[in-house]
Amino acid sequence: MRLKLLSQLIRLFLVAWAAVALAQAPQQSTSSPSAPSRADVLRGEYGPWRANNDLLSYDLDIRVDPEKKFIGGKNTIRFKMLKDDTRIQLDLFDNLNVDRILLGSTELKYTRELGAVFVDFPAPLKKNSVQSIEFHYSGFPQETGRFGGISFRKDPAGRHWITTACQGVGASVWWPNKDQQQDEVENMRLRVAVPSALTDVSNGRLVGKTDLGDGYTRYDWAVSYPINNYCVSLNIGHYEHFSDKLGDLTMDYYCLPENLEKAKRQFAQAKPMMEAFQKYFGEYPFKRDGYKLIEVPYSGMEHQSAVTYGNRFANGYLERDWTGVGVSLKFDFIIIHESAHEWFGNSVTGSDISDMWIHEGWATYAECVYVEAMFGKEDALKYVNGYKSKVRNRQPIVTTRGVNQTPSQDQYFKGALFLNTLRSVIDNDGQWRQLMRAYCDRFKYRNIMTEDVVDFFNRQTAKNLTPIFDQYLRRAALPALELRFQEGDGSVSYRWKADVKDFAMPVKVGRKTEWQLIQPTTEWKTLKTDIKKEDFEVATDLYYIDVIKN
Ligand SMILES: [Zn+2]
Repeated sequence: MRLKLLSQLIRLFLVAWAAVALAQAPQQSTSSPSAPSRADVLRGEYGPWRANNDLLSYDLDIRVDPEKKFIGGKNTIRFKMLKDDTRIQLDLFDNLNVDRILLGSTELKYTRELGAVFVDFPAPLKKNSVQSIEFHYSGFPQETGRFGGISFRKDPAGRHWITTACQGVGASVWWPNKDQQQDEVENMRLRVAVPSALTDVSNGRLVGKTDLGDGYTRYDWAVSYPINNYCVSLNIGHYEHFSDKLGDLTMDYYCLPENLEKAKRQFAQAKPMMEAFQKYFGEYPFKRDGYKLIEVPYSGMEHQSAVTYGNRFANGYLERDWTGVGVSLKFDFIIIHESAHEWFGNSVTGSDISDMWIHEGWATYAECVYVEAMFGKEDALKYVNGYKSKVRNRQPIVTTRGVNQTPSQDQYFKGALFLNTLRSVIDNDGQWRQLMRAYCDRFKYRNIMTEDVVDFFNRQTAKNLTPIFDQYLRRAALPALELRFQEGDGSVSYRWKADVKDFAMPVKVGRKTEWQLIQPTTEWKTLKTDIKKEDFEVATDLYYIDVIKN
């Protein structure tokens, strides 16, 4: 009896200990890839009621009441049917009210399941027909997620400051839309009514400002390019505005009045950054809409043509040396990283968050491109390798498609280190620059998956880089270069240890002053060398790999 009790106690203790261990595990490992929740399937899957239509435009017309923390209005959604059907899926967080959904004057029936709203039509909508529905909604949206989703705050002077940043959480946290990444509208209107003492700065161009006569003023913004849902943004506050131009690109800046001088000083980094990015990645992709940088109370977000900024008007990331190697404090991380997303994420978009490295790996690598352009190659190499300390290599960068599974942080740091490795594989700076530029052009305004990226690089280089992409993006572990020294006869044997069968990647070895390029595969090969084991180096700054010396 006592023994049984003791064993029960031990079991209870073990269960409790396991629970604590789980709770302490890094955030990324708590999301079990084997069991997506119903909510994740509804959000993540490009199911039949999404795939049967193609978005054309949104016209979001809302009123925001900062006192009540209330939002209400309508989104007019235009879409083309891709097949005959009677139902589509839209999304709106279930704490917000669906007031009515109209097709012309007909009120449509709908069913809500968690964050999804299934809209039913009384008769089949015909393939290729263009439809327009009005989705009326209202309610008290909840502040949630890493960046707040939508937050009703006060600025340090006590004035209202309402901002949205809903990447991950989903745009449907504050407005109704088709909340996924595969399909984007071609253009969008935002009509945002706010108390007249405040200003709304959203995406695109300000095309109108109307005093509504009831203490509210409506700001009309027009976005003339495709846009991700999560990039659609409200920035409602007591903003000061100043502006600049780079050629015929307008650059507009918004900050709190108290920060005007600081902003003028810090935001001066935007222009040379824009010149560097345009040089390497091609023309700023949203030129008609202009470039804006807007102060917000959170760190920042890549909102298209309305990049938001909360990095304390200081270099580094929240005043820290971000990669810890003495380079980060030379520039403002948020201005550079979030603006890089205009090319990587906003122009070229991943169709599913499983492949979000298409945004984050590339934007992080773009920081290195910026560092190289401004401070030279040596700093760039130091900077990118500083990211190694942040990589975990615990799970693959690309996650499961269709289940709303956000990849681990490796998508940023390992993503950038992988691209630096890819550059070394190509081993020709001129060609690498031409490839980056061609990549941005090829997938401009498109929504793509990793397969498209791999295919692009394979075709452009006429090489089979698939095993390299697969090892870095679809496997957790790094490839390891295994070296076996036979000093007696002055040779070293080498091969790759990698999870991907047929993994083959050139690598530079020997002496830093005169690297020797070898072509290891997963089979042993031998190299004659007079370099001793302890002096034999591998170019691990150029290739992000493990090295095993035997
Ligand atoms: Zn980012």
